[in-house]
Amino acid sequence: MKNVLNTKDVVKVLKIIAKRIEENKDYITDLDAILGDGDHWANMNMGYQKIVSIEEELLELNLADLFKKVGMTLMSTIGGSSGVLYGDAFITAHKSLIGVEEMDKFKIHEVLDSGLNAMMKRGNAKPGDKTMIDTLYQAVKAYKESLDNNDEFEITINKMVKAAEEGMESTKEMEAAKGRAFYRTDKGVGHIDPGAVTMYYQIQELAQYIML
Ligand code: ADP
Ligand code: MG
Repeated sequence: MKNVLNTKDVVKVLKIIAKRIEENKDYITDLDAILGDGDHWANMNMGYQKIVSIEEELLELNLADLFKKVGMTLMSTIGGSSGVLYGDAFITAHKSLIGVEEMDKFKIHEVLDSGLNAMMKRGNAKPGDKTMIDTLYQAVKAYKESLDNNDEFEITINKMVKAAEEGMESTKEMEAAKGRAFYRTDKGVGHIDPGAVTMYYQIQELAQYIML
């Protein structure tokens, strides 16, 4: 169990996430072929592979600059909506990290929350719109409730992952209000949103790393 995360930890988590995304090509591509234009996996994979390719450079940065660099890299590498949304999330979150050498559980919450708010603002989306936000919103909400409850950090992390999973699954029966699925006559009902799944992978890998 880790209680704090530094630059090295974050770079490791990013590499683990890159691998997780790389391994799930078919599932994510199929979901986006149904609900969108089929490129969500390719977009996320391209962004994360680019991050892996600049690992050495990232390891030299403090946390704030690391987040900024990751955001700028995702924004410039990924063409689709997810590039702008993730780019903005990481770039906005970097502001919470200025002067911070290690993120403790409160800082991790602050970073996730500011990323979430940046995404909602940039995408003009809210929970219930059938997007990646449904996963992150539930995760951040459960995390905060657990912090307020003074739970052990391990319990907080477990609650966060469980809520993220529920958020992801809840997109299945939702009607899309944002993204390409909105333009389908059935609004995508019956299918999980691909962006909600890749968001879940990222949260779950972060959690697993912390729990090691
Ligand atoms: P594009 O939709 O441009 O092809 P991607 O395929 O990379 O981009 O990403 C699609 C995912 O982006 C969707 O599954 C959804 O989760 C998310 N998404 C789309 N539009 C929005 C939005 N306005 N706000 C938040 N998330 C969105
Ligand atoms: Mg797409």
